[in-house]
Amino acid sequence: MNKFDYLIVGAGLFGCVFANEMTSRGKKCLVIEKRKHIGGNIYSENIENINVHKYGAHIFHTSNKKIWNYINQFADFNHYINSPLANYKGEIYNLPFNMNTFNKMWGAITPDQAKEKIREQSGQIKEPPKNLEEMTISLVGRDIYEKLIEGYTEKQWGRNCKELPAFIIKRLPVRFVYDNNYFNDTYQGIPIGGYTQICKKMLAGTELILSVDYFDQKEHFDSLAKTVVYTGTIDRYFDYCYGPLQYRSIRFENKILNTDNFQGNAVINFTHRDIPYTRIIEHKHFEFGKQEKTVISYEYSDEWNINKEPYYPINDTYNNGLYEKYRYLAEKEVNVIFGGRLGSYKYCDMDKVVESVLNITANL
Ligand code: FAD
Ligand code: UDP
Repeated sequence: MNKFDYLIVGAGLFGCVFANEMTSRGKKCLVIEKRKHIGGNIYSENIENINVHKYGAHIFHTSNKKIWNYINQFADFNHYINSPLANYKGEIYNLPFNMNTFNKMWGAITPDQAKEKIREQSGQIKEPPKNLEEMTISLVGRDIYEKLIEGYTEKQWGRNCKELPAFIIKRLPVRFVYDNNYFNDTYQGIPIGGYTQICKKMLAGTELILSVDYFDQKEHFDSLAKTVVYTGTIDRYFDYCYGPLQYRSIRFENKILNTDNFQGNAVINFTHRDIPYTRIIEHKHFEFGKQEKTVISYEYSDEWNINKEPYYPINDTYNNGLYEKYRYLAEKEVNVIFGGRLGSYKYCDMDKVVESVLNITANL
């Protein structure tokens, strides 16, 4: 007899939603987590009365009303709208690409003037664009590519823009209206009081063991439950038998400053390649904080190795091919559900993670 119905490896968003859904259906779940806290990458920590997004800035956004209602059960969300800025050699530009960006870059006042300028600068690109460089120039022209994208992207991905897939840049909206909202989604906000409370509420009623790596006692943990829900890296599950998948890692340098407002915005991207970090996050602005101090995080993009945290999957042809081989093995694994951003080797926003769990659990 198994003591639990589900052993959930990883207390990130995927694991927490899964545990919540199944305990509410009367199933017994055990969650194990190798870090010393719950929440995975959405973990937030209270420092100087400010909720600090310890693994990078997280803004919840979705167009799916069901997912928005679901997440709002666990926290009240504020009306924060993400409007990052780009700093190129001290010049400040609005993101995503919109009329404010085009106006600052070229003095364009009307959408037609901006479109004309983009046509002028993208004329020599042959359709369809083959890589990230060509895609960006064809969408927004060469000036924006050179000032806002080239240096930042090469820092972020550690690769030349000509070697990167075009779809990466398609994440960013291009708009011919004066609108600095980074996302096109209907619903958006930050949980008042941080993200960790959401995971804590989701795990109420679930047994939890922190600071334990599944692979250190795999046989023991497997014997405890009928089904394993695995949200770690898929290649590690199979002992890297086809070789490791590649990721980008991130290093954060946090500072507490004796000023109430360091940069006037939650997110500022530094797009010149000579600045070693990619962005500075000032956490209090996510919740319109009025504290006397501020906490900032410098974000440095880092080459990944097996001893570092994997953050961004590198979904190029090589890695996607390798992932397919692991996925084939995963499909044959009996009584194991692979999920989350590491289990599916996919950059997934939080709403997509929640949606995928709700779909899986609805069919169990
Ligand atoms: P994770 O949060 O990684 O959780 C997996 C957990 O499993 C981890 O806690 C890990 O420690 C644990 N684990 C792994 N292996 C083992 C093991 N062997 N034994 C025990 N435990 C193990 N999404 C948005 O919607 N909006 C944003 O603004 C946004 N910003 C982001 C910024 C950054 C820098 C990054 C990297 C991601 C961002 N995301 C954002 C995506 C968001 O972080 C993910 O959607 C979400 O965290 C995925 O949850 P998960 O449970 O799949 O993975
Ligand atoms: N990007 C850029 N300059 C910026 C912001 C984004 O070059 O100031 C590029 C970069 O290649 C990044 C991609 O656009 O990987 C997608 O941006 P997004 O903000 O979605 O990245 P993430 O949220 O994953 O950090």
